[in-house]
Amino acid sequence: MPEVIVVGAGIGGLATAIAFTRLGRPVRVLERTPELAAPGAGLSLWPNALRALDALGIGDRVRSRAVEHGSAGIRDSRGRWLSEFDLPALAQRYGLPIVVHRADLLDILRSALPAGAIRTGVTVTEARPDGLVRHTGGEIRADLIVGADGINSVVRRAVADTVHPVYSGYTAWRVVVAPSGPVTEFGESWGRGLRFGFAPLTDGRIYAFACANKPEGAPSAGLAEVRELFGDWHDPIPALLAAADPAAVLHHDIYRLPGLKSFVAGRIALLGDAAHAMSPNLGQGACQALEDAVVLAAVVAESGVAGTAETGSDGLARYDRLRRPRTRMIAARSDRLGAVGQLSSRPVVAARDAVMRMTPPSAQFRALAPILDWRP
Ligand SMILES: Cc1cc2nc3c(=O)[nH]c(=O)nc-3n(C[C@H](O)[C@H](O)[C@H](O)COP(=O)(O)OP(=O)(O)OC[C@H]3O[C@@H](n4cnc5c(N)ncnc54)[C@H](O)[C@@H]3O)c2cc1C
Repeated sequence: MPEVIVVGAGIGGLATAIAFTRLGRPVRVLERTPELAAPGAGLSLWPNALRALDALGIGDRVRSRAVEHGSAGIRDSRGRWLSEFDLPALAQRYGLPIVVHRADLLDILRSALPAGAIRTGVTVTEARPDGLVRHTGGEIRADLIVGADGINSVVRRAVADTVHPVYSGYTAWRVVVAPSGPVTEFGESWGRGLRFGFAPLTDGRIYAFACANKPEGAPSAGLAEVRELFGDWHDPIPALLAAADPAAVLHHDIYRLPGLKSFVAGRIALLGDAAHAMSPNLGQGACQALEDAVVLAAVVAESGVAGTAETGSDGLARYDRLRRPRTRMIAARSDRLGAVGQLSSRPVVAARDAVMRMTPPSAQFRALAPILDWRP
């Protein structure tokens, strides 16, 4: 039977492989890294993503290794409320988001696949709309090629070769900390061009992240820089930074992908960050990759064949129609939130904070509705 070839064993690629495996389609995942290492820190998964994980049959396994996100809103650097969420309403209408360690999520995704489905140490060098995949070990013909190879996707060249990631203007640090005392709160706090957030994971660990406006590619002094920027913010931020291990800090400049004209070309479908890498401000990048996976498998199954993009009535064209507008809307909202969060001029930040204090929780709830409403 012709194969589905998935390029990339990240969250999006693994979820896609699970979705096609559940349909009885043979799937092979090609991953460039030699080992399935599990870097990363915490990850928020919103109720829309939890529904996608339920559709893949692993929602409860992920929930069992996660903590429900009880963030009550956004504070300023001294800990005063700027904006409070209506958590009971969120829980009642959609369910609460969860926070999971990325390594735990990847572990669950991998273990839901049959042995041998993932080939590591294979770098894809070219994917063609006619179904040919060239890689460091040779070439294969596929019925369907899924480009799940992340923001710098090689597969994307066959779909949109002139679109490249754009720097968002801010950089991010992430770390998982084991603090000496218990931290049960969740929080995100905004200053001038600076943001800091933290959330409990399982086993007493805390996921902490920080953002700062910086030029693209500027070197970072890692934890020392984060301590310098945030060491005098409200509790428990100084204690979290004191407990952090400098070697465990991850640092990445934040990029986003401009909107593509199509996610599909011939036998290729792009998915996850390869299709719509977005800024992390709404915590939706991986959530959208999980939605993509479920939708792609469903529309391909409904159309009966993997098909090609050109016929218009087949699975791939429908996948594009279903996924592109939604992910573009969410990416745009995420960028806007990031732009507001990273404002740095003193009077503008004072005005922003005043507006946030006056905005009722119901406004945020309404803004989240079109994102969280999604169902497989
Ligand atoms: C600071 C930060 C915080 C974030 N927080 C959240 C959050 O809280 N919630 C959320 O939902 N999202 C969050 N995201 C976004 C999320 O991390 C991404 O959207 C998600 O990981 C994308 O998954 P993916 O599978 O599409 O791509 P990736 O995770 O990038 O996986 C791509 C895979 O493809 C492999 N690969 C690449 N090129 C090739 C090749 N040529 N051949 C073979 N293999 C290849 C790579 O090695 C990798 O394994 C955050 C992102 C950042 C930067």
